[in-house]
Amino acid sequence: MNVTFSCPECDQTTRQELAPETPRIDCAHCDYAIPTSLPADANKGIDRCLVCGCRELYVRKDFSQRLGLTVVVSAMVLSSIAWGFHWRYAAYGILFAAALIDVLLYFSVGNLLQCYRCRTEYRGLAGLEDQEPFSLETHERFRQQAARLAEAGPPPADPSSGSSPPG
Ligand SMILES: [Zn+2]
Ligand SMILES: [Zn+2]
Repeated sequence: MNVTFSCPECDQTTRQELAPETPRIDCAHCDYAIPTSLPADANKGIDRCLVCGCRELYVRKDFSQRLGLTVVVSAMVLSSIAWGFHWRYAAYGILFAAALIDVLLYFSVGNLLQCYRCRTEYRGLAGLEDQEPFSLETHERFRQQAARLAEAGPPPADPSSGSSPPG
């Protein structure tokens, strides 16, 4: 499987392959590293986020919204050109084709697992169908929690704390 995460240190995005013997997740842009202890059957699923330790994860389609939007916007431009030439059926046809392409794209992509808290994405895991789908309620809870933390200011830097999350 592979992990795509946003570095807590430098905010850059890194994508890394993960195997049971991978000792840690490394940021590709700075020195930040997170030790991992993947179970041997990690491809069957993980019960918590490897980046932040959060136990609430959800499954969603690995659908690129940007790609979907590009298809829709290009179709709108093309169909208004066709409309300008009074090619009415072509204009409708283009919009219909774009909708069809989006639906086909949606159903052809696989699933990914995403963390509510740090939005890290996990791809290439089996058995994702059994995992919880997105819940707006949980998402809202994490969003409010993050807002409260932001209000309280950044946490004090404490380099002496070397505790690892309980496994
Ligand atoms: Zn970094
Ligand atoms: Zn996380």
